[in-house]
Amino acid sequence: MIDENDGNIIRMFHVYRRYGPKNALIDITLDVSKNEFLFITGPSGAGKSTLLKLLYLKEPVSEGQILIDGMNLSRVSAKRIPFLRRKIGIIFQDYKLIPTKTVFENVALVLEVAGKKRRLIEKKVKSVLRTVGMEERLNSFPPVLSGGEQQRVAVARAVVGDPKIILADEPTGSLDSESAGIVMDFLKRFHTRGSTVIIATHDKELIRKTGGRAVHLKEGRLKEKMNIEHRTSNIEHRMGNDEETEL
Ligand code: ADP
Repeated sequence: MIDENDGNIIRMFHVYRRYGPKNALIDITLDVSKNEFLFITGPSGAGKSTLLKLLYLKEPVSEGQILIDGMNLSRVSAKRIPFLRRKIGIIFQDYKLIPTKTVFENVALVLEVAGKKRRLIEKKVKSVLRTVGMEERLNSFPPVLSGGEQQRVAVARAVVGDPKIILADEPTGSLDSESAGIVMDFLKRFHTRGSTVIIATHDKELIRKTGGRAVHLKEGRLKEKMNIEHRTSNIEHRMGNDEETEL
């Protein structure tokens, strides 16, 4: 049986995800250790987003098991799902901020839903927005911000609840190289503070520049695992689109 008492915050055992006859994920077995910085790479359609969706409980597995922080997702009652989700912060390529709420309100919502007190919310939200350099834009609405600024707010929203795990689905996919570098720098910083960070990206240049473990998905299968040496400390990324280049 599965040993739940180990140094891994995420364990996936022979996981499948099917959409009708389509196998989006096939026999995925993967351990992610506490405080790891992990890339999930692979071309478009390889199953990266699907894998993240299983981890943040947006979708169920078709077969296999996933443990998050010792909890078996297939045995989590509906009542406990919100509690489990609070362990996870999520960042999307298209930011997914609420356009009719201010920057402050977008970030505060996470803590409001978790039932935190108003004073604590105010303090925490301002502090995290200061960290990502958005404290001057508290009262702005997302549509007036640049893509890079919106993603910094989205990073703030993902980390404000002190999640154990941060999942990012192509977080730099819509950004210019300077903004991408800034966002990656923040993700690195939150990783250093103790979060486990998992980034899905097809951008191999980003992985080369950042360094860390990368697992490769191809047509739903985990193909290879590798450790990429951090080549440079310069966070200015050239946003390559060289899907064919081997790492
Ligand atoms: P990636 O994130 O690597 O681009 P996805 O995880 O989005 O890949 O998709 C993996 C495969 O699963 C693709 O072939 C995609 O078309 C398919 N897929 C994803 N979501 C659905 C869905 N809701 N219904 C049917 N097929 C899906």
